[in-house]
Amino acid sequence: MYNHRTLKLITDIDHLPPALAASISPEERAYIEGIAARGGLPFAVTPHFASLAGPEKDDPIRRQFMPDPQEAQGDPFALEDPLGEACHRVAPRLIHQYQNRALLKTTALCGGFCRFCFRRVWVAEEAPFISAAELEPVQDYLKVHPEIREILLSGGDPLRASDERLEWLFQELRAARPGLQTAGPRLPKADSALSLRICTRLPITAPDRITPELIGLLSRFSPLRAAVHINHSRELSPESRRALSAIAEAGIPVLVQTVLLKGINDDAETLLTLFRECRNLGLIPYYLFQLDLAPGTAHFRLPLKQGLALYRKLQILGTEPENNSSSVPLLPGNLVPAYAVDLPGGGGKIRLSKKSIAGETVLPAGRAYLLKDKDGKLWPYPVD
Ligand code: SF4
Repeated sequence: MYNHRTLKLITDIDHLPPALAASISPEERAYIEGIAARGGLPFAVTPHFASLAGPEKDDPIRRQFMPDPQEAQGDPFALEDPLGEACHRVAPRLIHQYQNRALLKTTALCGGFCRFCFRRVWVAEEAPFISAAELEPVQDYLKVHPEIREILLSGGDPLRASDERLEWLFQELRAARPGLQTAGPRLPKADSALSLRICTRLPITAPDRITPELIGLLSRFSPLRAAVHINHSRELSPESRRALSAIAEAGIPVLVQTVLLKGINDDAETLLTLFRECRNLGLIPYYLFQLDLAPGTAHFRLPLKQGLALYRKLQILGTEPENNSSSVPLLPGNLVPAYAVDLPGGGGKIRLSKKSIAGETVLPAGRAYLLKDKDGKLWPYPVD
């Protein structure tokens, strides 16, 4: 039976598959060996995700988990709390930033550590799942905030918990507000039903976690959606495809969130291939995120103007057949996900277009665009 100790992570680079271990340069090794002393994001990857990586330094899977000495380069724009979650924290693990939804940090455990992680200060190698004592203030808050219609269960990765802990959490959340449906056969959506959204990367990094028992559990707690983080079609191994299809076939909507990563997926063909393959599996490409300003991640950041040009290309390839000279099959326009950024420091998510840029300024950190939120307030985001 799965519990949080079932998943074994590789935390020693010498335990990687031989070709990968042999590909580690002296500079990388020296950097990795010094991470703990510097208090940086540890190295950890699942055997499954490591098995998908090639030994080349620019391999799109390898780069996502292999620590890179470039992480040590300073970034004057970097923020410890890039999304400004502290400004919207209403209970120790609950963030309420948008009127109709809130985010619950269920655990700090993950299925390995992405080198571009925006919660790098939060995620950890050893951490408990949310406790009853920690959940109590969350329930109290939900009881007096009926405007919250959806809870995003995030972390870390909530699916690191056992089915029993997840079931307990789902039941407790649903019990927090009178009149909500609880575990049992699928019921029609009640107007007041509190939706659950499971934010996870385990179908990609550890597809074995998606057992029939887990899918059965998720199915019993409708309305419930999964939001799966996928950045490249190479992540869609046969095992992951089976896991994702099984979730979708169980009637659980699967939203795909992709982080735009320089040198990994920053070209139209790579992204269109990913979105097309996701669509073929019954998944919904949902968001393409401009990178958050977490420390040690600037080498993954595609300049915003390039991101906008790339997104325009995606839209053209997806929606204007007469202009399409690419070999990539077309996508219906509504399946090209929204291009969005979380405004640094707590401004919330906005969809990006040329109109989002209200101007440019020079800050002590460097040149920055001024991005406009829905209320017209301006937020700086680096030009480069
Ligand atoms: S899965 Fe998400 S929370 Fe976990 S390390 Fe990757 S980006 Fe961070």
